[in-house]
Amino acid sequence: MAHTTASINKLHDKVAIITGGASGIGEATALLFAEHGARAVVIADVQDEKGQKLAETIGNLHSTYIHCDVTDENQVKSLVESTVELYGHLDVMFCNAGTASTCTQTVLDFDIAAYEKLFAVNVGGVAASLKHAARAMVEGGVKGSIICTASIAARTGGDRATDYAMSKCALLGLARSASMQLGEHGIRVNCVSPGPVATPLLSNMMGMGMDEAEKAFESSYWLKGVMKVKHVADAVLFLACEDSEFITGHNLVVDGGFKFS
Ligand code: NAD
Repeated sequence: MAHTTASINKLHDKVAIITGGASGIGEATALLFAEHGARAVVIADVQDEKGQKLAETIGNLHSTYIHCDVTDENQVKSLVESTVELYGHLDVMFCNAGTASTCTQTVLDFDIAAYEKLFAVNVGGVAASLKHAARAMVEGGVKGSIICTASIAARTGGDRATDYAMSKCALLGLARSASMQLGEHGIRVNCVSPGPVATPLLSNMMGMGMDEAEKAFESSYWLKGVMKVKHVADAVLFLACEDSEFITGHNLVVDGGFKFS
């Protein structure tokens, strides 16, 4: 059945921020949000060239790139303030920036400094993004939606990625707590937990190219086929829009039925 304009405009007039929006899951979500009629998609990242190019692809009226290192709370605060100044309010915050660059640790060689560096992005960065988005929503009287990117690693653990798995567990606790505290304001907070999907993060983590990383998981899902970033973006869109208006504190797993989860 052909889509009507109404059926694809799930984010009509909404203003969204996507941290880690220049690449992978964030990039696919930015494109999907724009396709669904978002008034503005603010792409926040540290990869300036990539982020700016993506904002131009979406179109200047509907997208802006803002440099924001989520480990610096002042930058996160200013990202949210600039968005509200530019577009009047904030409806959706996708706290998605993450790293796995130091995740080579077993418990036997656990390196506290490396763990702190990873946690600063994966946990501190998400907590700061959630905090400032929630404050703007409460102040603006906006019944917004906040989505955090966790991972099935929170449940599977990691054979070497101990700190990464720990960081994603922390996000489940953060999102549950925030959903309890923000419910009275009509603000929803949920997680999306992807299985392995070919992005620069996964290919770096596995030390192989994107095609190779995708192939490595080909027979790992109950469903036939390979997982794509669009599968995760579709779930984020669902959590961002009114289709999920009575869902909060949830962790939506998107993994094709990963055999090891
Ligand atoms: P990606 O490398 O394509 O994207 C991550 C983005 O985050 C990059 O654009 C990067 O520049 C940005 N980023 C990193 N540190 C940042 C910082 N300090 N401030 C702002 N931006 C920063 O990888 P991806 O797979 O799309 O990752 C997105 C999220 O998905 C991450 O939280 C990751 O942990 C999670 N995830 C990925 C997978 C997977 O298999 N790819 C599975 C589960 C969860």
